[in-house]
Amino acid sequence: MSSDNLVLVLNSGSSSLKFAALDPESGHESLSGIGDALDGPKPSLEWKYRGRRHARQLEPGAGHSAVFSFLVALLQEELPELENRLIAIGHRVVHGGEHFSHSVLIDRKVIDAIKECASLAPLHNPPGLLGIRAALEAFPQLPQVAVFDTAFHQTLPEHAYLYALPYSLYREHRLRRYGMHGSSHRFVSERAAELLGTPLEETNIISAHLGNGASMSAIKGGASIDTSMGLTPLEGLVMGTRGGDVDPGLLMHLGESLGYSLERINQLLNRESGLLGISELSNDCRELERAAAEGHRGAQLALELFCYRLAKYVAAYTVPLRRVSAVVFTGGIGENSSWIRERVLQRLGALGYRADTELNARMRFGAEGAITLADSPIALVIPTNEEWVIARDAAEIVAGRAP
Ligand code: AMP
Repeated sequence: MSSDNLVLVLNSGSSSLKFAALDPESGHESLSGIGDALDGPKPSLEWKYRGRRHARQLEPGAGHSAVFSFLVALLQEELPELENRLIAIGHRVVHGGEHFSHSVLIDRKVIDAIKECASLAPLHNPPGLLGIRAALEAFPQLPQVAVFDTAFHQTLPEHAYLYALPYSLYREHRLRRYGMHGSSHRFVSERAAELLGTPLEETNIISAHLGNGASMSAIKGGASIDTSMGLTPLEGLVMGTRGGDVDPGLLMHLGESLGYSLERINQLLNRESGLLGISELSNDCRELERAAAEGHRGAQLALELFCYRLAKYVAAYTVPLRRVSAVVFTGGIGENSSWIRERVLQRLGALGYRADTELNARMRFGAEGAITLADSPIALVIPTNEEWVIARDAAEIVAGRAP
């Protein structure tokens, strides 16, 4: 199905701004682009329109607002035929705390709530707000919708979202596990039900979103009942530059015995750990796979830690789900790395998983389908599409049908 309508989707990361104009029914993208490395000395801008790629360098320090100004000028001056088809703007917002369990039309109160959650996602919510403010100014006639990463996980039961800390920290400060990547987990779990040919309400999925950031979700009948990220995106799996689960006592040791400041610990946990920290080479899975094949010990170790933690989480999520319809791999690594998928399934051999090596090797660059043998529990590769989720939610809200 396709329509003439388009939704402009804005996804502001800590140092990037992605945009896309897409048909909410078919997911077809008319325009897409990214402003990248916006906090560095060489910010860049790339966009694609009608199959043609364009690129330009931006001034150092250009920031998110330069990308947004470019986008507004592009739409208003060069592509009015696209601008005329816009029915809404959809914003990805990382943290919505306990305020939002679904996507919402943006108004003053919503903006205040997003501001309130900024301390929980200091790298992500402020640029998201900047995008919202700039879009409200440039396109005052268009409805604007916020789609939260955390919203999908608001169905977690108390025993999954509470930390075993004094309850007053939750009661008074809302300190709990929230989870992220909600749009991605939601998209692939719905798609998995379609591929399996089972109603969503009867489908139980373990979804592994493996990109530079990585998280897992246990999804029962379409609702998230556990997830690996916590109060912030630091908990859980091994990621590109984040190490995931660590003993909190280690952080006190770093401070008290090694003299690390809080700022230094923050830098260490967010930017220097994970695949990069262990390999001492790179956070890029492709580079690590190449180096590991050539015998680089750090790269081998980093990939092994990544797969081991992942397999442990898959096994753990069989507890709340009881019956698992499929494990789904998605995100840049999940969609492309047959090596990682095969290794994880090997580690899950105790649960009966067996990879189909040929199918698994073929599942790359947007391919979708099963990667396990007929007598194995099912594992699927499904390319994620967070932009489409955002566009669909925005269109539903504009049409008066809340998602
Ligand atoms: P994302 O954040 O979803 O864009 O994913 C980024 C991660 O995907 C990086 O670690 C990349 O190295 C990894 N990735 C992308 N393409 C491939 C590939 N062909 N093989 C292995 N890893 C890949």
